[in-house]
Amino acid sequence: MQIRRILLALLLSSGMCVAQQLVASSLAVLPQPTRAEYLKLAVETENALNTDVIAVWFPRSVDREHGGFHTHFTRDWQWAPSDGKAAVMQGRMTWVASQVILHDPKRKAEFLPIVRQGVSYLRNVMWDKRDGGFFWLLDDDGHFTPEFAAGKHLYGIAFCIYGLAAAYQATGDSQALDLAKEAYLWIGKHAHDSAHGGYYEWLARDGTPVKPDVPGGQLAKGPIGPVGFKSMNTHIHLLEAFTELYRVWPDPALRARLEEMLAIVRDRICVEPGLMNLYFTGAWQPIPDHDSYGHDVETAYLMLETDELLHRKASAKTERMAKLLVDRALACGWDEKNGGFFQEGTTMGKPEDTRKEWWVQAEGLNALLMMHERYGKQDPIYFRRFHEQWDFMKNHTIDAEFHGLYNLTTADGTPIAQDKGSIWKGGYHDGRAFWNVSARLRKLAGEEGHRPRRTFPIPEISREPGRDASLRPQDSRAAVNPESAPTRPYGFSRPAPILLYTGVFMAIETRLPIGILGATGMVGQRFIQLLEHHPWFQVAWIAASDRSSGKPYGEAAKWRLDTPLPERIAQMTVRPAEPFGAPKIVFAALDAAIARELEPRFAEAGCAVVSNSSAFRMAPNVPLVIPEINAEHLHLIEEQPSRRESGGYMVTNPNCSTIGLVMALKPIEERFGLEQILVTTMQAVSGAGYPGVPSMDILGNVVPYIGSEEEKMEAETLKLLGRLQGHAVTPLPARISAQCNRVAVEDGHTESVSIKLGNKLGRPVAREDLLAAWAEFRPLSGQGLPTAPDQPVQWAPQPDRPQPRLDRNRGNGMAVTVGRLRPCNVLDWKFTVLSHNTIRGAAGAAILNAELLASLGKLEPIAAAAANA
Ligand code: NAP
Repeated sequence: MQIRRILLALLLSSGMCVAQQLVASSLAVLPQPTRAEYLKLAVETENALNTDVIAVWFPRSVDREHGGFHTHFTRDWQWAPSDGKAAVMQGRMTWVASQVILHDPKRKAEFLPIVRQGVSYLRNVMWDKRDGGFFWLLDDDGHFTPEFAAGKHLYGIAFCIYGLAAAYQATGDSQALDLAKEAYLWIGKHAHDSAHGGYYEWLARDGTPVKPDVPGGQLAKGPIGPVGFKSMNTHIHLLEAFTELYRVWPDPALRARLEEMLAIVRDRICVEPGLMNLYFTGAWQPIPDHDSYGHDVETAYLMLETDELLHRKASAKTERMAKLLVDRALACGWDEKNGGFFQEGTTMGKPEDTRKEWWVQAEGLNALLMMHERYGKQDPIYFRRFHEQWDFMKNHTIDAEFHGLYNLTTADGTPIAQDKGSIWKGGYHDGRAFWNVSARLRKLAGEEGHRPRRTFPIPEISREPGRDASLRPQDSRAAVNPESAPTRPYGFSRPAPILLYTGVFMAIETRLPIGILGATGMVGQRFIQLLEHHPWFQVAWIAASDRSSGKPYGEAAKWRLDTPLPERIAQMTVRPAEPFGAPKIVFAALDAAIARELEPRFAEAGCAVVSNSSAFRMAPNVPLVIPEINAEHLHLIEEQPSRRESGGYMVTNPNCSTIGLVMALKPIEERFGLEQILVTTMQAVSGAGYPGVPSMDILGNVVPYIGSEEEKMEAETLKLLGRLQGHAVTPLPARISAQCNRVAVEDGHTESVSIKLGNKLGRPVAREDLLAAWAEFRPLSGQGLPTAPDQPVQWAPQPDRPQPRLDRNRGNGMAVTVGRLRPCNVLDWKFTVLSHNTIRGAAGAAILNAELLASLGKLEPIAAAAANA
C-alpha cells in the first residue's frame, strides 16, 4: 500500500499521462482468481507453447545443409529465402532448444542433437577463430555480408552467451560453457568501459570499439541504434545473458559484473516515473527518444530475475523500479479497447505507434502475471490485464490456421506482417513467456509438482557411444574461415561419441551412487548421516581399514552420532579400500598418511575423489575448494594427469579450523582487502577423530598444541583466498599467524580473530561496512545446491556469542557464526567465529563440493560410468 501511495503521488504530481485510470481501476474489488481458473490458463498457455512455439520451430528450423538454424519462414511455415545467420538468432534458438530439455527431460534424446547443432555452429562458424568474438551476421555459407562485414555487436554476443549457458545447463557439454566464458571474457577485455561502467557495443573485428566520431565507422546507424553509443537494448540483454551464465558458472568476477549491470539498468537506464531511455553517450548521458513499452515490461522481469538470483530476494529498489515500469506501461501503452500493449509512445506518455508486435505481447503476458503474483492480493489490475492480454494473443497474435505467432498486427489484431520468422523473430520471447507463465500459474494454483524454471543440471546416467544414428549430432562442422569463400565450406567429420542424456531431473529420483572411504571414522559417520536423505547422492559402497572390512557396518563402526544409524547402512558390508568395485564418486575421510597412498589410486581408476584429508590440499594441481569462496579453483582438476587418462580427479576441502576462518574473511577480503590475520583457535575434541585425545588429557584442561594444525591453517587460508592464474593458484599476499588449542568441547571450533584491512574501499572501514559484507555474502544464492545454507555467514549480536553448544548447528551445521566484532588496538578489527568442525569443517564441506561439481557438470562422465558399473 505504501508503494501504491508513492506511485499515486508520483504519477499525479508528474501530470504526464493517464495514470489515474490505472489507479482508479486498481481500487475496484474483483474476486480473486480460483485454482481452477489458474489451471485452465496454465493448460492453455502450455498448449500454445507446444503447438505455436516448439512444434512449429523444431525440427523445421534446423539447417542440415549449412549448420545452425534457418530463421526465415512464411506464414504457412515454408522455408523463405534465407536472411543469413545472425548471432542473435543462432544464440536464441540454441537457448529455446535447451529450454525444451530443461523443462521436459523426456524430450532430451530428441532435442540433444538440436542443441548440439546450435553449439557447434556458434563454436565453429559464428566464433572468430582469428580475433575472438562472435560475428554479427554471416551468410548461409559462413561468409561476411557486405553490410556488416566483420563487425561484432554485443547484442548478438549476449545472445550467444545466453544460448551457450543454457546449452551447458541442459546437456552438461563443457565445451558450451567454455565458449560462453570465453565470449564473456573477450567482451570484458575489449568492450567493457571501466571508467563509466557498461559496455561499448559495436566493435571492429579485432574488438576495437567503433567510436561515434570516426568517419571510417562502418555504419552511422548500427544494428542496435547509433554506432558508438550505449543502448538500453544491449544492456538489458547483457544483463539477461550474464544472469544465465552465472547460474552455471558462479564466478565472483562475473557476479561483480552482474551487480554492475543490474545497477546500470535499474539506476541509469530506467528513470522515474517508470520508463527507460534508449541511447546514451559513453558517460551515460541520455539521448532523448521514445518509450518502448515492450522493453519496459521485459526489463521489469529481467531485473527481478537477476536480483533474485544474486540475492535470493530482490531488493526494494529493484522491486520498486520493476513495478513502476509495468505500471507506467499499463497506464500509457495499454490498449483499453482491444487489450494488449502498443508498440511505443512518447516519453511524455502518449502512444504513437499503436501496432502490436508479437514479442511485446509475450513480454507483457509474462510481466503481468509476475506482477499479479507479487501484488495481486492488493491489486486486481494485473490479473485483469493478464487475462485481456492473453485473450488478445489467443484471438489475434496466434495464427489459428497455420500456428505460430504473427509478427505484427494492427491495434485491433489484423495481421500486418505475416511472415513467421526472421533473424529477429524466433521462439525466444514467446517460448520464455509461455514457460514462465504456465509455471507461475501452476504455482499460484498451489500445484504440488510445480518446479521453478531453473535447477542445476544433474548429470546423465548412461553413456552409450553411437547407439542410435538418428541421435548423432549435426554438430561436427569444421571451422569456417569467413573471408575465404569455398563454395562448400564445411564437411561433416566423424561424430563424437554421444553421451545419451536420460533426463535432467532423473538423478533426483534415481540418486547417484557414491562411496565413502574411511566410513567408520568420525567424518565417515557424518557422511552417512548427512547423505541419508540427500536428494542427489546415495551411499552405495563403504570402505575402511582391514580391521573393519568384511564386517557389517553396524558391527565395524562405533556409531557416535545422536541420530540413529540407518538400518540399511548398518546391514551393508564394509569393503576393502580398493578401487575395484567402488562407485565413481567417492568421498574420502582417511588419515592423511593413508590418503596420500589411496586417493591417487582411486583417481587413476576414474573416480572423482572428494577428499577431507590434508594429503593433497596444497598440491598445485589439486583444488582446495569452499563453494562459496573459490568455486573457480575447480578448474585445476583439468590439470591432473588422471583426469586426462581415466576421467578421475581429486578435489579437497580445507581443514576444519580453516573453513570457519575463511568463510568469515572472504566477504571482508572481497570488499576491503586483507593485509594481516591473527587467529587463535579453541578446537573441539571431535576434530581429532575417534577416540581422539584421551579423556584424562582433555577433561578440565586445554592442550595448546595440535600437530601441524597451525601450518595447515596458515597455508590453506592463503590458497583459498588466492587467485587462479593460468594453471595454478597464487596465494593471497597477506600475512597470517595461527595458534591452535584443543579444548574440552565436543563439536564446534571457536576462533578469536584480529585483522588488518587493505584499502580497497578507499576510506576507513566502519563496523556497519563489515556487518553488511557478512550479511550480503550469499554467493550460492538461488543455485539450488541442496546442502548450501541460505545465509552462510550469520551474525550473532549478543555480547557473549557465538558459543559452540548454542550456535554450531546454524544452517544445519553448514553456516558459520560471527560475533563480538570490535576495534582492535593492535590491528584494525577483531571478532569471534564459530563453525561445526565435522559438518561444515568436514563431511558437509565435501558434500557441498560434490554438489557444486554436479552442478557444473564435472561428475558427468563419472556419473555415467557409475551407472554402468
Ligand atoms: P578417524 O575417526 O580416525 O577415522 C579414520 C577412518 O579411516 C576410519 O574409517 C578408519 O577405518 C579408516 N582407515 C584407517 N586406516 C585405514 C587404512 N589403512 N585403509 C583404509 N581405511 C583406513 O578420523 P576422522 O576424524 O574421521 O578424520 C578423517 C580424515 O578427515 C582425516 O584426514 C582428518 O584429518 C580429516 N578431517 C577431520 C575432521 C574432524 O573434525 N574430525 C575435520 C576435517 C578433516 P577403521 O575404523 O577400520 O580403522
